[in-house]
Amino acid sequence: MNGGRPLLDAKRLVKVFGSGHTAVRAVDRVDLDANAGEVTLVMGPSGSGKTTLLTMIGGLLRPTEGSIEVDGVEVTGLGKVELARFRRETVGFVFQSFNLLETLTAQENVEVALNVAGVSGERAHERATELLAAAGLEERLDFRTRDLSGGEKQRVSIARALANRPRLLLADEPTANLDSRHGLEVMELLRGLARDQGCGVVAVSHDARLERIASRAFWLEDGRLGPAVRDS
Ligand code: ADP
Ligand code: MG
Repeated sequence: MNGGRPLLDAKRLVKVFGSGHTAVRAVDRVDLDANAGEVTLVMGPSGSGKTTLLTMIGGLLRPTEGSIEVDGVEVTGLGKVELARFRRETVGFVFQSFNLLETLTAQENVEVALNVAGVSGERAHERATELLAAAGLEERLDFRTRDLSGGEKQRVSIARALANRPRLLLADEPTANLDSRHGLEVMELLRGLARDQGCGVVAVSHDARLERIASRAFWLEDGRLGPAVRDS
């Protein structure tokens, strides 16, 4: 928290792709906030604008209109270099497709991310071990990630996303490639990490079963965000 303000405060966000009569309003005047220590979930069918919303929050896509404040910083006001730094230092990303280096081990995948974040050698090795243990993977450190199950792969990618100690963890359909048991395990892990590490988690998913593990949940439809369907 910063002075009682939410970690994420997005206002009147709009993203229009294309122009003229082929223009698509993928995100349409969305207000969304999210607190540290909590999982905030945005649910919606395919094509409702979830990825567009999340990538704008993470500084990967410029909004057409609106403002995005993360940890007191107005992301839309950042220049190219500052934006790259924001992505590197403030946010962590988790994707549906894991995006791991499949021929490297779990430990090596996390170490690579630590190296990028400026941590190397023995320190990187120890920290990677810690992060993977926190994700319940102490028995899988030396497995090549191609040999892991989907749920284990996603847990490696979550450990990797935490390498830079992000304030905000953004997860795009983190359970879509998993069966429901492993999907719930991954969401429970995200919830535990938010609580224990104090980061904020914003997850988007078409899977309404995830609603019960979120602190707050919303529906997105045709780019429009509805009122909270869950607020615990
Ligand atoms: P979701 O993640 O909920 O499936 P998306 O955010 O990917 O939805 O897409 C929302 C809408 O925006 C869709 O109609 C999609 O076709 C459109 N869209 C997404 N990205 C682009 C793009 N780069 N160019 C044009 N249209 C896009
Ligand atoms: Mg998507």
